[in-house]
Amino acid sequence: MKLSRRGFFKLSGAMAAASVLGTKGLAAASKEPAGHDDSWACLVDTTLCVGCRKCEQACSERHGLAKPDLPYDELTVLEEPRRPDHRFYTVINKYYPQHIGPLTWRERPSFVKFQCMHCNDPACASACITGALHKNPEGPITWTSSKCIGCRYCMIACPFQIPAYEYHEPLMPRVMKCTFCYEYVKKGDLPACVKVCPMEVMTFGKRSELIKLARKKMEKHPGKYVNYIYGEKEVGGTSWLYLASQPFEKIGFPKLGELAPPRITEGIQHGLYKYLWAPLTLYVVLGGVMWASGFFGEKRSFKVKTRGRPGNEKGGDQ
Ligand code: SF4
Ligand code: SF4
Ligand code: SF4
Repeated sequence: MKLSRRGFFKLSGAMAAASVLGTKGLAAASKEPAGHDDSWACLVDTTLCVGCRKCEQACSERHGLAKPDLPYDELTVLEEPRRPDHRFYTVINKYYPQHIGPLTWRERPSFVKFQCMHCNDPACASACITGALHKNPEGPITWTSSKCIGCRYCMIACPFQIPAYEYHEPLMPRVMKCTFCYEYVKKGDLPACVKVCPMEVMTFGKRSELIKLARKKMEKHPGKYVNYIYGEKEVGGTSWLYLASQPFEKIGFPKLGELAPPRITEGIQHGLYKYLWAPLTLYVVLGGVMWASGFFGEKRSFKVKTRGRPGNEKGGDQ
């Protein structure tokens, strides 16, 4: 493409403008996404769970996941903490009562269901450079195989260590995690785990309503729950919300801040862009000055004279 001197200045001007406007645009893009009051959500009352693993089975069967080594009614597997993986989008873990200082929490073990938290501002989707992980308008974060390049940035980014990878699949390995049963719930069904649970541990509904319900439960049963809703604020809030009778850090929940990871990482990223634009703009402007002053033209004519045959004004090797 031939670039005239005027065109070059236009380009320089556009790049200089982009150095100012571009960072503003990027800063705007880094703002936290809009509210999530109406997002689909699930309130898990861990005090009701009996650790039967029926939710694990219903989930794995609905999604056609590989059969586990031991049957689902084998409850000894609960003795070791597990993470969701390619065979289980959700797992139940068992936590024995803890004695903390002078306090003794309930004698009964706590059973806790883990799966993707479907974050309001998901670090996995933010880290995914191809958009393979995507937050749907209703809240669930889903994965599209055709867009995934297998970089596994999502696995590193997730503060709950949720996405699993089919390492054993040489051809088409998948990133695997709870889908919130998106395709089923969109058609009016319930998530399989919610539907099957015999103890009604989970309540599915709108996020804002479930937060109200959680508060009511805590008010109605003083002393039954620790006075905290896990997921209300962690990492910018999550669609899965929890009530518990033991402190959350004692039953497998990571202690996390309120700021969503994408707000931190995108801030750094935008800062880098901002400071890289300045030298880039300087190079473009200096280049423009050199072009305007004929610097490149002088060099070109020097090159032509030295390479061409004597008497050949155009130079070249013809
Ligand atoms: S829990 Fe992890 S995988 Fe699930 S939405 Fe949040 S960041 Fe993504
Ligand atoms: S919402 Fe669906 S995919 Fe997620 S844990 Fe429950 S059954 Fe499994
Ligand atoms: S089905 Fe319900 S009671 Fe059984 S383990 Fe799952 S959440 Fe707990």
